[in-house]
Amino acid sequence: MMLKIKRVPTVVSNYQKEEAEEGGCGRNCLRSCCLPGAKLHMYAFKTAKKAVSDEIAADSELEVDFLDSLVLGEWEDRMQRGLFRYDVTACETKVIPGKYGFIAQLNEGRHLKKRPTEFRVDKVLQPFDESKFNFTKVGQEEVIFQFGASDDNDVHFFPNAPIDVDNSPSVVAINVSPIEYGHVLLIPRIFECLPQRIDRESFLLALHMAEEAGSPYFRLGYNSLGAFATINHLHFQAYYLATPFPIEKAPTKKITTTNGVKISHILNYPVRGLVFEGGDSLEGLSDIVSDSCICLQENNIPYNVLISDSGKRVFLLPQCYAEKQALGEVSSELLDTQVNPAVWEISGHMVLKRKEDYEGASEENAWRLLAEVSLSEERFEEVKELIFEAISCTVSEVAAAMTTTEESVSSHQSHEDSDTIKGSHPAMVPV
Ligand SMILES: [Zn+2]
Repeated sequence: MMLKIKRVPTVVSNYQKEEAEEGGCGRNCLRSCCLPGAKLHMYAFKTAKKAVSDEIAADSELEVDFLDSLVLGEWEDRMQRGLFRYDVTACETKVIPGKYGFIAQLNEGRHLKKRPTEFRVDKVLQPFDESKFNFTKVGQEEVIFQFGASDDNDVHFFPNAPIDVDNSPSVVAINVSPIEYGHVLLIPRIFECLPQRIDRESFLLALHMAEEAGSPYFRLGYNSLGAFATINHLHFQAYYLATPFPIEKAPTKKITTTNGVKISHILNYPVRGLVFEGGDSLEGLSDIVSDSCICLQENNIPYNVLISDSGKRVFLLPQCYAEKQALGEVSSELLDTQVNPAVWEISGHMVLKRKEDYEGASEENAWRLLAEVSLSEERFEEVKELIFEAISCTVSEVAAAMTTTEESVSSHQSHEDSDTIKGSHPAMVPV
């Protein structure tokens, strides 16, 4: 049986149209018809940290601030040029009263004027399909810069740099259906037309982008196929929202440390998941998380990823909502809201499509939806074992870590209120 769900596809580009294309193009796209002579800003990051004295010298020479000037500044420029489908800064947003601080946004414009499409949700890995929309079809004006490692381990900004197709640059583009201020897409090695699947190199690039942004309010997210990604062309999302997400405030319990990376359970949160943090380098953290993602993909388990704390903390959340939906196991009350629980919703930023849902938004409702997204405790344990096997955490290592209980439960340091929510919700994930 092939499991499918119907949903309204998100329009991420103004060129994501259903009509057949004609030769000649004329849309100023990123394919061979329009690329010759095209130029895009290029931001080159350094891959390794230098000594503090060098850091200061390098920063003083740098002509552009990555987050404020480049990502957000260029995003605002595209807003002034009228490239977005609606004005997200005019969407109402509120923090839902309660202990967790779920954030609700009323976004009535995002899904309008589109017919529902069928998405296959039972296969996390699907081959790239040239006939479907992909990011080489976006307009060049939607792409804000090229992003890659520098050759000399220093930071560089090159305005209007040529596009070296043969080296397949990674690019950052606006999402024309933004859910927040500065909503962009990171598209690794765009011309390689990679399907939506995590690999080590691409995940490390996403962590570098979070690190360059250097703000806890600029997060990156990833949705696998079967976990509400709708475009099968490798991409991460990112946006700026100046408030902590509920998932970031949830207490955690350490399971183990491997290669310096601490792996914990998320506690007192409706969606079961793992948190990865630390490690000797960005690459060390990236390898362990991406290997975990690869394990999930290869076992056909849909998942979402949130990159927090400037790339220092990563949440991995296997989920089963779309599968339940396809099997008819989700209540009509939840389905009627048409909320797609992808990475942002799972993290606690609920994008609501109906005014009544926004006005009646409560912690209870947010919790009820997210509880449907989570794997059962039993299934989560199985999935966790698969992951630990893949990243070579031996069972004894894990078992030893499990015996240290009390002192290993920790709240994230920047949110001192998390302890108080312990034991307060009837349906919470057991400690
Ligand atoms: Zn073209």
